[in-house]
Amino acid sequence: MTNVCLRSFRRGIRGALALALLSPAARAVPPPPPLAPLAYQELAPGAIRPDGWLRRQLEAMRDHTTGHLDETYPKLRDDNGWLGGAGDGWEETPYWLDGALPVAHLLHDKALLAKVQRYVNWSLAHQRPSGYFGALTKAERAGGASVAAGPQGEDWWPRMVMLKVLQQHYQATHDARVLPFMTRYFQYQLQNLKTTPLGQWSEWSTTRGGDNLLVVYWLYRQTGAPFLLELGELLYQQTTPWTAYLGGRDWVMDAAANQTGAHWMDRHGVNVAMGLKLPVVYAQAHPADPQYNQALRTGWHDLMTLHGLPHGMFSADEDLHGNLPTQGTELCAIVETMFSLEQAAALTGEIAYLDALERIAYNALPAQTTDDYTDRQYFQVANQVQVARGVLDFTLPFDHGMNNVFGPYAGYTCCTANMHQGWAKFATHLWYATPAQGVAALEYAPNTLVTTVNGTVPVTIREETAYPFGDQVDFVVELKKPTAFPLALRLPAWCAEAIVLLNGQPLRTDWGGQIITVARTWRPHDRLTLRLPMAVRTSNWARNSRTLERGPLVYALKIQEQWQESSLPEEGRYFTILPLSPWNYGLPRAVVDDPAGHTSVISKTLATNTNGFYWNAANAPVTITTTGRRIPAWQLSAGVAPQPVTPRDGVYKGPVDAATETLTFLPYGCTKLRVVALPVVP
Ligand SMILES: [Zn+2]
Repeated sequence: MTNVCLRSFRRGIRGALALALLSPAARAVPPPPPLAPLAYQELAPGAIRPDGWLRRQLEAMRDHTTGHLDETYPKLRDDNGWLGGAGDGWEETPYWLDGALPVAHLLHDKALLAKVQRYVNWSLAHQRPSGYFGALTKAERAGGASVAAGPQGEDWWPRMVMLKVLQQHYQATHDARVLPFMTRYFQYQLQNLKTTPLGQWSEWSTTRGGDNLLVVYWLYRQTGAPFLLELGELLYQQTTPWTAYLGGRDWVMDAAANQTGAHWMDRHGVNVAMGLKLPVVYAQAHPADPQYNQALRTGWHDLMTLHGLPHGMFSADEDLHGNLPTQGTELCAIVETMFSLEQAAALTGEIAYLDALERIAYNALPAQTTDDYTDRQYFQVANQVQVARGVLDFTLPFDHGMNNVFGPYAGYTCCTANMHQGWAKFATHLWYATPAQGVAALEYAPNTLVTTVNGTVPVTIREETAYPFGDQVDFVVELKKPTAFPLALRLPAWCAEAIVLLNGQPLRTDWGGQIITVARTWRPHDRLTLRLPMAVRTSNWARNSRTLERGPLVYALKIQEQWQESSLPEEGRYFTILPLSPWNYGLPRAVVDDPAGHTSVISKTLATNTNGFYWNAANAPVTITTTGRRIPAWQLSAGVAPQPVTPRDGVYKGPVDAATETLTFLPYGCTKLRVVALPVVP
């Protein structure tokens, strides 16, 4: 559907709904103020066609777990509640769909589309007359009347995830059933939340109400139905006060110091990841009040200062747990933080969230799954020198000690179902539309954008790149005739100076850390080239340790691995990984003082849009070699490598081997065993 069609469609829907929903008295009330304009608008999930390594990644997911979880995972497979059965009617089926549906659209895969469509159709076709939807309740399955009011329903939470699925379904298809369906459900929520609040059945709903609010305001932008703003206020009031937590600072400090069970749901990493979006989502309805956007700025900064790890995520094992490299991060926390940052970017336009998203996507995310996306860890550890069962250094060790091993179900199965949205939504958020009816390339990866500019003019932009492994991104613009539109580009903060060329001729240079706009009349076959020079640098982490970085990638010491397969009756197959080479090295002070002068970057020449799989040690396209010296006292203890201190003068004071050795560092995302935060030695 073109933008013009969409606009007239929206006008039609808006008129119809306004007539249908408003009593005569309400019609006299002046229309509510519109929501604040979006900084960037999401595109339809099918507008971006992944190419190169990104297509390979998504195809691996489609061919394995993402495309087949409903066949292999008994909880989803057997008598599924979201298809009318007595099986899973809670979060895991919507979690899976929240990733599988965009993968189906990104790959234009008919078989996967048909598969996910069954669940969408069942939900749309089985809405109760009251507006309630979802799996049949216990009472309904026992032959009772359909849910008519709040107390007869079940937990609000799984419906929040399904709303995200239905929103994406609408963005991809403009299915005429979706907006009236959501309108009826939100009317039901408005009528029932006062007596049956979010926290009626579970604290998951209370902590995650921001995701519910996100879809309410999205629907308001489609229909303009005024009651949605009233519902928005109610949801905000009933949700965990993330604005006060993020903006107020005591919460994040307390979480760094204290890991008791008191209010643990407010420190649970996945809840925090989802709660991040609440202030900026709510800010849409209160654009004159700067406190909401400021709360996320303050909160994100504090979170990463007190709990941040080199791979771009905060500790979440399961709760916030400080910044030592022995802490873990749950896979759900990664994918939910990515989604919150994708939304924060659209709502605020602030580059800090886009740079943070890139760091997580290209470092933390690929490290936590196997090549075929079938086995994953519940918690990854930053300095992960072995992968094994045990208590390790986590706030929540489950009884089987399976949090750190790779397996399809090891630890807890939320991640088994939720991990699919990570790459899928990163791909659907590579590009956004701009308010000036142009396009913005805000994350870089090989893809082809097929969309419209200036409302109706079709444009195709081929993004040819080996990014994040290569430092050049080419945009080839295909149009029927010359057309003026703005094309915005993110220049990451890590880049000192970006170079832009047009058809091979220098166009401009700019400092990193900003979004620039190239506004001109584009001609068919125009080629815009963006060069983002990647210098080797180091960053500081806990106990004054150092991490090697280059461009968007963080580098970690390569460790030889020995994989062992085992199984446990309760949690199935799992893999342990033992180190076969030493890992207890410090980084010489000379490397820290002059990283570029004391490292060698070895880069395979990758053809643009090369379609290999690169997120493993054997295929890593870029390696960095440098020197290091061993610290004999640095040994494994209780399954982790407790970080030696680099004191404030910058050099470890204990015994260090005399011999200097050559060390190889891999992109963090290509590792399973690694040391990423190194002590500094003489
Ligand atoms: Zn999880």
